[in-house]
Amino acid sequence: MPNLKDPSLLRQQAFVGGAWCDADDGQTIAVTNPANGETVASVPHMGAAETKRAIDAANAAWPAWRKLPAKERAAILRKWNDLMLENADDLALLMTLEQGKPLAEAKGEVAYAASYFEWFGEEAKRVAGETLASPWPDKRIVVTKEPIGVCAAITPWNFPAAMITRKVAPALAAGCPIVLKPAELTPLSALALAVLAERAGVPKGVFSVVIGDSKAIGGEMTGNPLVRKLSFTGSTAVGRLLMEQCAPTVKKISLELGGNAPFIVFDDADLDAAVEGAIASKFRNAGQTCVCANRLYVQDGVYDEFARKLAVAVGKLKVGDGREEGVTQGPLIEEKAVRKIEQHIEDAQAKGAKLLLGGKRHALGHSFFEPTVLTDVTSDMLVAHEETFGPLAPLFRFKTEDEVIAMANDTEFGLASYFYARDIGRVWRVAEAIESGMVGVNTGIISTEVAPFGGVKQSGLGREGSTYGMDDYLVVKYICMGGM
Ligand code: ADP
Repeated sequence: MPNLKDPSLLRQQAFVGGAWCDADDGQTIAVTNPANGETVASVPHMGAAETKRAIDAANAAWPAWRKLPAKERAAILRKWNDLMLENADDLALLMTLEQGKPLAEAKGEVAYAASYFEWFGEEAKRVAGETLASPWPDKRIVVTKEPIGVCAAITPWNFPAAMITRKVAPALAAGCPIVLKPAELTPLSALALAVLAERAGVPKGVFSVVIGDSKAIGGEMTGNPLVRKLSFTGSTAVGRLLMEQCAPTVKKISLELGGNAPFIVFDDADLDAAVEGAIASKFRNAGQTCVCANRLYVQDGVYDEFARKLAVAVGKLKVGDGREEGVTQGPLIEEKAVRKIEQHIEDAQAKGAKLLLGGKRHALGHSFFEPTVLTDVTSDMLVAHEETFGPLAPLFRFKTEDEVIAMANDTEFGLASYFYARDIGRVWRVAEAIESGMVGVNTGIISTEVAPFGGVKQSGLGREGSTYGMDDYLVVKYICMGGM
């Protein structure tokens, strides 16, 4: 059992309609620590019936929740934020145990996740409609915004807390209840959040957590007509499937799917800053984020120097159990993830890429992998087209701005992109030409609750965070006031 200051934050039951419960058939699934394969806890393995109950409870809770003045909803969200920060050490430890990321990163995520409650609570008070100029002398046009209704969310394992609060905070702020299915690999953070939701005063049914059979739970969430909106973060393949499943009941959907982020270093870049940005963007969370740099394009004139400097910086990363002091890279989430990075490295080497650093499973065993740098990478290699989702930095060489823009855009994805350059004309040209929802210029870190996070092309639909993120949980109503 993990050594928590508040042991009640570790829950092994799901949270449905305000009640802690087991699966109807008593089935459970184990939660394992990827750093050592040990079982951390076991949680219920639920299906459609429990999900339906959570949706019914959400629907029953909706009228009272939407009527609550925004200021009161905001106060509850603020309290939830405060409780997360007060319990940050415990939440971070649970996250590291189930997900593997270094404790310092986990703590950072807890603060980042909490910030969505703070920000959207404040934003709840600022949802406003408008009146439009009427074409009729005896009628007025009024536009209001209303909560869309019961929402469902499906989240991934790479950010076990932040991917949840990004959806739950705007839903609750807008006046919507929400049923969450966290990833089976990382349910403990979600359950700890539910404990804090109860303490913060979130009414019964407004927030539920179901865990288990993803197909059955997803099937109920997408098929149930009471659900008006689905928000999903995960792979493009599952996103497509859920979109299809939502079609018969015409649900509003937000999808935050895969990425294949280019990271471009132009010859006028500050190379040390670019190396620092590349480390932050590529190796954070062991390369397991959808906005991680996946393809590093470096201009001919600075290619060798950048590669050398990057290898030095990557060589300083410390791989180990996330609980150990000074560790900067934990294990990958599971064996499947290790096989994917191995496949990308083998394929690249077979086609002529050279290994500058790393390249194999780490001596620590389990799913630990060496931070890796490949040079002489070309567009015909798998790494150019697929998201590696691991600690592999492949360096492509380019000569001109037009050439690199074409290479960067040669993908069905369009989530994040990054580039380093100082020439102001180039900065504007490239920022405008890149097909992605987010662009980091001279920075490798872009995520904040204040800005709209989301993609174009097959990276998704909708935005999370910022006022745009609130819009995804609101519907516009037009009231025509006649008979004056
Ligand atoms: P990843 O490769 O990051 O695990 P997935 O898209 O498989 O991405 O998983 C993201 C989330 O989607 C997880 O919560 C997972 O359980 C869920 N999921 C996977 N398959 C389905 C499905 N068929 N229906 C609903 N949810 C699913």
